[in-house]
Amino acid sequence: MSQSDIETLRTQPVAVFDHLIDGQSVPASDGQRMTVISPLDGRPLTSCARGTIADADAAITAARRAFDDGRWSGLAPAARKKVLLKWADLIEAQALDLAVLGVRENGTEIGMALKAEPLSAAATLRYYAEAIDKLPGEIAPTDPAFLGLVHREPVGVVAAIVPWNFPLMIGAWKFAPALAAGCTMVLKPAETASLTLLRVAQLAVEAGMPPGVFNVVTGAGSVVGARLAESMDVDVLVFTGSGATGRRLLEAAARSNLKRVYLELGGKSPNIIFADAPDLDEAAKVSAQGIFRNSGQVCIAGSRILVERSIHAAFVEKLAAQAAEIRVGDPLDSQTQAGAVNSERQLRQNLEFVAEARAAGRTVIGGARLREETGGYYMAPAIIADAQPDDRVFRDEVFGPVVTVTAFDTEAEAVALANDTTFGLAAAVWTSNLSRAHRMVRKIRAGLVHVNTYGGSDLTVPLGGVKQSGNGHDKSLHAFDKYLDLKTAWVKL
Ligand code: NAD
Repeated sequence: MSQSDIETLRTQPVAVFDHLIDGQSVPASDGQRMTVISPLDGRPLTSCARGTIADADAAITAARRAFDDGRWSGLAPAARKKVLLKWADLIEAQALDLAVLGVRENGTEIGMALKAEPLSAAATLRYYAEAIDKLPGEIAPTDPAFLGLVHREPVGVVAAIVPWNFPLMIGAWKFAPALAAGCTMVLKPAETASLTLLRVAQLAVEAGMPPGVFNVVTGAGSVVGARLAESMDVDVLVFTGSGATGRRLLEAAARSNLKRVYLELGGKSPNIIFADAPDLDEAAKVSAQGIFRNSGQVCIAGSRILVERSIHAAFVEKLAAQAAEIRVGDPLDSQTQAGAVNSERQLRQNLEFVAEARAAGRTVIGGARLREETGGYYMAPAIIADAQPDDRVFRDEVFGPVVTVTAFDTEAEAVALANDTTFGLAAAVWTSNLSRAHRMVRKIRAGLVHVNTYGGSDLTVPLGGVKQSGNGHDKSLHAFDKYLDLKTAWVKL
């Protein structure tokens, strides 16, 4: 990735985008368009189709037809694998173009965007493509007078609704296993991160994906997303986003066809530093990255640091030093470590949390708006050094570069504070005491508990929440559970 390549791509005009339905690029049925605003400078970047209910229905119909006639599910798994691997190659070949396009739309720093978006999507496609012809069914150990066969069958039409923070990575966590399994799909990107998913969908057609198998419809969540959720023809709905939307999706499923709904929601993840952490400097550095990269817009961000009282002051000092070193700036500069906040609305919310903590008399380090002269949405990392459990910033997800630090005295108190949340997505424990590390892993209610690190878990392990952080898992072979049904054949011999 050279800076001059990035500079060339930065200035290229961005084409206007339409939906991809039944293998064709099509505009909204009523011709409406959404302006895409770049968070780098607050200016229009391009436009894409503002989907209607009719557009969502057209995509669902195409996906239903493609599933029912077996043009994809009826292929040998090895044949689907071939298309998916070619698709991965095409994505990888255009990785920098895709990454720069994504950054211009959602503001993530380019270094992270390249790795976490196109390259991660290509790797995810390859992982599930390679796995799908290695998942045999079962013969049950039953009475020999009978034969019990357990088949694995694709669940049918899958709708995916994804957020704006990592559209390709999170999108691929859903479309790669679903398509590998033989399902067909309609995907709805977030309003502020649609372009790369549309371009990747075009590459699927180029790779030989039959029409109707993978459809992308852009537009408002309350229109296109809501229609997918209430459809009688969608069998499974997978979602990453906020808890408020998750609730609506469950209600819509209950009102319609009881489709299965899998939710990956937010978090307020505790990052617990004991005084016996192996290396306090390392803990401070990794903890800073664990909350401030991508401007805190990471579902598993370690947004609540709990620190043993004896090292509270020292740790805050080290954390503040690390935060001060994070280069916030132009996300298309490869030296930048935290780019732009995704939208003006998100920036305003982040700044409100900081102002509220300051007004409540908490010690606030950083948290100012930056680079306002560019028209873009930039913010310095913020540390609320003495947050209390009743503070809104301790309880609610900010989804921005804002971390709270709270002191504790005992292991039991650390567990109680860690679990004092409606969320349960991720956590971390820093300690040299092996027994304590394992005790904490058991006691913390979260889908992912790090020990002496934060973030960076790879595709081989599942990611999913407990409590109000959701249900079901992305990543790993367990992701197939959402897209493959078990069917029993019971045969009298
Ligand atoms: P959001 O819930 O507003 O939007 C997510 C998606 O849902 C978007 O595509 C949006 O258009 C759609 N949507 C909105 N209203 C809808 C409705 N009524 N019906 C159907 N679809 C609708 O969330 P957001 O603000 O875009 O994303 C940030 C949130 O996502 C944060 O809370 C974050 O924690 C969460 N998140 C979770 C994970 C995870 O893996 N658990 C990952 C990334 C983000």
